[in-house]
Amino acid sequence: MDGKKLRDEIVAGLRAEIDALGNPQITLATVLVGTDKPSQIYVRNKRRKAEESGMVSRHVELGADSTQQEVEAAVRELVDDPAVNGILVQLPLPDGLDSERVLDLIPPDKDVDGLTERSMGRLVRGRPGLVPCTPLGVMRLLARYGVPTSGKRAVVIGRSTLVGLPQVLLLGRKGVDATPTLAHSRTSDLAAQCREADIIVAAAGMAGLVTSDFVKPGAAVLDVGISRTEGGIVGDVDFDSVEKVAGALTPMPGGTGPMTIACLMENTLSAARLQGAV
Ligand code: NAP
Repeated sequence: MDGKKLRDEIVAGLRAEIDALGNPQITLATVLVGTDKPSQIYVRNKRRKAEESGMVSRHVELGADSTQQEVEAAVRELVDDPAVNGILVQLPLPDGLDSERVLDLIPPDKDVDGLTERSMGRLVRGRPGLVPCTPLGVMRLLARYGVPTSGKRAVVIGRSTLVGLPQVLLLGRKGVDATPTLAHSRTSDLAAQCREADIIVAAAGMAGLVTSDFVKPGAAVLDVGISRTEGGIVGDVDFDSVEKVAGALTPMPGGTGPMTIACLMENTLSAARLQGAV
């Protein structure tokens, strides 16, 4: 399952859709605090893809020594600006800053990361809203590559509010109709749990955790975990061994990562729609 290819298809589709709408100024605002290198790269990529999608990228950059008040004031300004359709605060914030208080400021209709309490509440309640980008990207990959979900068993490894928990909710939604299991570090015999699954989503952040003996022949395996090693970025899935057993598999890098960005762009257009701006 090629995440880069699908990202490019989604970006091209958004561009065409925005074109057809008469090129409204759909604006994604990114907020970067501090000098964390991976965060700088993520934000740069998000801004580039916003422009490629035909959107306006607004960027706010604050120093690593910014106070809670300064960060909150910058976010408030974006919240109050009707020209801004989506707000993304790149996490993690530098030590000493409370990200929960910052996220709480973002109204659900501008919450393109889908991470605030109110967006999560909408997801749980099955109401229209914006869904976290990484698990949404996994759902797009399953759909694009024709992986059946209805009546299938899924195991999601990891229970964070960023990935694992919303992933379980999305897989179990009406219309998707998988039967998901939420696994974590206390799950006993994880390999046996996974072997029962038609779909495995690995989001533990533990390099090479999922080996071929975790995978039922023909199962779809989606690798979300990212570990930085001396040899470069590796995922939670031992690609070489799992490739021989799985029916479908995402590479790392080039799988779920690009899809996270594609879904951020999708969410920005959805945000503009929720606001009635387009
Ligand atoms: P997190 O908050 O640290 O959560 C990790 C989860 O994995 C926890 O629930 C933890 O269990 C579980 N876990 C850890 N080791 C395990 C093991 N050996 N067996 C079973 N479960 C285990 O991390 P996160 O924010 O969800 O991110 C997960 C990974 O995805 C990270 O590597 C992150 O960098 C990556 N990520 C990738 C993308 C992308 O676009 N591809 C986007 C976001 C994040 P406990 O709850 O019991 O501790």
